[in-house]
Amino acid sequence: MIEIKKKSECCGCTACANICPKNCIEMREDEEGFLYPHIEKDKCINCGLCEKVCPVKNAKENKKEKHTYIFQHKDDKIRRQSTSGGAFTAIAEYIIDKGGIVYGAIFDDDYNVIHKGIDKKDDLYKFRNSKYVQSNPKSTFKEVKENLEKNRYVCYSGTSCEIEGLKNYLSKDYDNLVLVDVVCRAVPSPLVWRKYLTLRKKQYKNIKYIMFRDKYYGYKYSNLSIYNKNNDRKKEYHSGVESDPYLRAFFSNICDRPSCYECKFKKDNRESDITIWDCFDVEKFDKSFDDDKGTSRVMTNSKKGEQIIKEISKNNNCEEIDFEKATKGFLAMYQPVKTNEKRDKFFDDINNLDEEEVFRKYFPDTYKVKIERNARKFLLKTGVYKPLLKIGKLIRKRD
Ligand SMILES: Cc1cc2nc3c(=O)[nH]c(=O)nc-3n(C[C@H](O)[C@H](O)[C@H](O)COP(=O)(O)OP(=O)(O)OC[C@H]3O[C@@H](n4cnc5c(N)ncnc54)[C@H](O)[C@@H]3O)c2cc1C
Ligand code: SF4
Ligand code: SF4
Ligand code: SF4
Repeated sequence: MIEIKKKSECCGCTACANICPKNCIEMREDEEGFLYPHIEKDKCINCGLCEKVCPVKNAKENKKEKHTYIFQHKDDKIRRQSTSGGAFTAIAEYIIDKGGIVYGAIFDDDYNVIHKGIDKKDDLYKFRNSKYVQSNPKSTFKEVKENLEKNRYVCYSGTSCEIEGLKNYLSKDYDNLVLVDVVCRAVPSPLVWRKYLTLRKKQYKNIKYIMFRDKYYGYKYSNLSIYNKNNDRKKEYHSGVESDPYLRAFFSNICDRPSCYECKFKKDNRESDITIWDCFDVEKFDKSFDDDKGTSRVMTNSKKGEQIIKEISKNNNCEEIDFEKATKGFLAMYQPVKTNEKRDKFFDDINNLDEEEVFRKYFPDTYKVKIERNARKFLLKTGVYKPLLKIGKLIRKRD
């Protein structure tokens, strides 16, 4: 039976709960808001399956033949809604055209992030844009297996640990399965997200849609946006990475899942068929792609993945790039984030202070923040934002 000695030993993928033949594993939220398996020990028959499927306990390093690309969806509206270049939508469209079903992270009616299957192109917008919260896979692993066994084409997308968990759960290769992982720096706590939502719901009524990585100010200066059902622009919220308290919490590594600080899935050789991530420095590869509307970097890790990208590249903007150049020095791909020293205190406060107090305490709107916000907006207007951002990154040596 699986034993988790330290919280960092579980990435919350749900593979163990799904495989258990006695249904004696339940995923329960801890005090930080992350899901962990709880076992009803008297029902357990010690079959060992839960340990066998755990991706953290069974880390893999299989060598893959890889190709890398820069990619833009042909439809600018789709690109605008997507985090980077809309590569994921193009892959999903391909699967649906073949009568398949696509799984990924969406908001439910209360803005919790969950995994769900979609088989209509009109609903694909629900997947678009990264949700900076750990997604609850719910019963999707079992659904995937059922669909695969009915010979339906299935695409499953998620973080690399979710993909390895699903692959272990399925325990064999399926020709009709396509796995897509996003390169993720880390996943924040659903509890912290709910706290932030409570704060914003008090201030913004009639919420139509929330985007964590909106391109309201362009791709290079992404922001968190809250859109209004009446399309009343005065009641919208758009706040950049330097100002919005939730984005500041995410990018300061204060509320991530413990397993992310010791992530075992940050590597070249990935178990998915296709890996997707951002490309802020697209001008390095091809200046003609640099339109500030977003570009995805795509890596194929299998023949199946390679064949799909070749196929969808016919109708989209896609160019092969050098693997070394595409991945070199990209921290989110190789290096776990460092724990913020205030993390424990932050979670104490998340459980004890009210939402306004806790975000004001850790992420106050100081003069420094206000100056940075105004400077960014001024530089955007004057057109020197991009060159200065590049210099800043070189100095700070970050992605
Ligand atoms: C939590 C998180 C952190 C990330 N960190 C980085 C980073 O540091 N550097 C970088 O280059 N790229 C990062 N990415 C990837 C990047 O943001 C885009 O997902 C990627 O560029 C693909 O964009 P797209 O335009 O093709 O697709 P989009 O349509 O924007 O992406 C949608 C895809 O993301 C998946 N997804 C969205 N939210 C979640 C979630 N919470 N859990 C699992 N899957 C999710 C959907 O299932 C779908 O496959 C991160 C993504 C996530 C979810
Ligand atoms: S050992 Fe088998 S029965 Fe026991 S919890 Fe794990 S999967 Fe379930
Ligand atoms: S990582 Fe997945 S399989 Fe392993 S213990 Fe956690 S939920 Fe279970
Ligand atoms: S950083 Fe690692 S452990 Fe965390 S969600 Fe991403 S792949 Fe999983």
